[in-house]
Amino acid sequence: MNHPNRNRIISYLLMISGIAIAGISAIIRGVEPLHTMFYIGAALAVIGIIYGLVSVRCPYCKRLLHLRGIMPEKVCPYCGKTIAQEGEADL
Ligand SMILES: [Zn+2]
Repeated sequence: MNHPNRNRIISYLLMISGIAIAGISAIIRGVEPLHTMFYIGAALAVIGIIYGLVSVRCPYCKRLLHLRGIMPEKVCPYCGKTIAQEGEADL
């Protein structure tokens, strides 16, 4: 079963680590020219955003849930069905 709340956290971790890698690269290696590590970090952040858009969806109606903040959603705002939480029986 799809777990949008868990996927949202994975998406955030990818974005944060990507931004951190790009930022560290810019600090250590400078931005003229941009180091390969900066592009890797930027790519990771983009992958995080895409992952969020693709996977943070209601398992019932497949509509995109909110991506802002990491607070888990218990009920889908579109179809009203309960979204299973991490660790519940249907994992
Ligand atoms: Zn729904």
